[in-house]
Amino acid sequence: MTPSANIKEIASLVEDANRILSITGAGISADSGLPTYRGVGGLYSQGLTEEGLPIETALSHRMFLERPAISWKYIAQIEQTCRGKKPNTGHYFFAELEKSGKRVCILTQNVDGFHHQAGSTNVIDIHGHIYDIVCSHCRFRCRVESYSELDIPPSCPRCRKILRPDVVLFDEMLPVAKLARLEKELEKGFDLVFSIGTTSFFPYIAQPVIAAAKNGIPTVEINPDRTAISPIVRIKIDGKAAETLRKVEDQWKEKH
Ligand code: NAD
Ligand code: ZN
Repeated sequence: MTPSANIKEIASLVEDANRILSITGAGISADSGLPTYRGVGGLYSQGLTEEGLPIETALSHRMFLERPAISWKYIAQIEQTCRGKKPNTGHYFFAELEKSGKRVCILTQNVDGFHHQAGSTNVIDIHGHIYDIVCSHCRFRCRVESYSELDIPPSCPRCRKILRPDVVLFDEMLPVAKLARLEKELEKGFDLVFSIGTTSFFPYIAQPVIAAAKNGIPTVEINPDRTAISPIVRIKIDGKAAETLRKVEDQWKEKH
C-alpha cells in the first residue's frame, strides 16, 4: 500500500528536524497491550471503581494517606497490566531517531518505563515509574522487576511504614527537578513536536504543542480520537500509534 500524503509529510518533517519533542500518553503503550485509563479501550472508561469511586479519587494523594489499601489495589491492577509486556514500534521509532543523531526529548505521562527500555536516553517521565518503590518516611528506595513478590500494600523493610510507588498520584505536585528539565528543553526549542496517544488533559502536556503551533513549528498528533489539541495541530492522524509510526519509519528510512 502506498503511504498517504500525511505519512510522507511526517517522514519529511522528521528527516529535516534536528530537535524533536515527543509527548506521549497511555495510547502509545496501548499497542503493547496496556489498557489506557480513559478513551479508546480504557480500563476505567465504564465509570466507577468497585468502591463506587472515580479512578482519580482512588488514585489520589488524599486516598493514599487515608486508605492506602484502596490506592494500592488500583496501583497493583495497573502494574498487573504491564506484566510481560514490551515496548512496541512506536517506542523504538524514537530511540532509532536518537541513534541516527537527532536530539530527541520524550515527555511521557506513562509509568511503564517502555521508552527507557526501547533505548531512548532523554526521557522526562513526568509521572514517575511504577517499578520504583519508595518510603516517604525513611527514604528507603528500590527498583523491582514486578509486584509479584510484594505484599499489597507493601511495608518498608526499614521502618515498617507503608511504601509507595514513585509515581505522581492525582492531587500531587509534579517533581520539581523533572519540571526544570522540561523547562530547559523547551527553552532550547524544537523543530518538530509530536503528541501521541494522550487526551492532552493536563496543561503541561497540551501547552508545548499549543506554543509550537503558535510559533509555526510543525506539530503532529496521532490518536484515533479527537482531543483538545486536534484543531490546532498541523497534521492529525486518526490512527494507532504503533502502526502509524511504523509507516513513518519505513518512509523515513527510504529517504534516509
Ligand atoms: P488516557 O488513558 O486518559 O488517554 C489515552 C489516549 O490514548 C486517549 O486519547 C485514546 O484515544 C488514545 N489511544 C488509545 N489507543 C491508542 C492507540 N493505539 N494509539 C494512539 N492513541 C491511542 O491517558 P493519558 O491522557 O495519557 O493519561 C492519563 C493518566 O494515565 C496519566 O497520568 C498516565 O500516567 C496514566 N496512565 C499510564 C499508563 C502507562 O504507563 N502505560 C497507562 C494508563 C494510564
Ligand atoms: Zn521506611
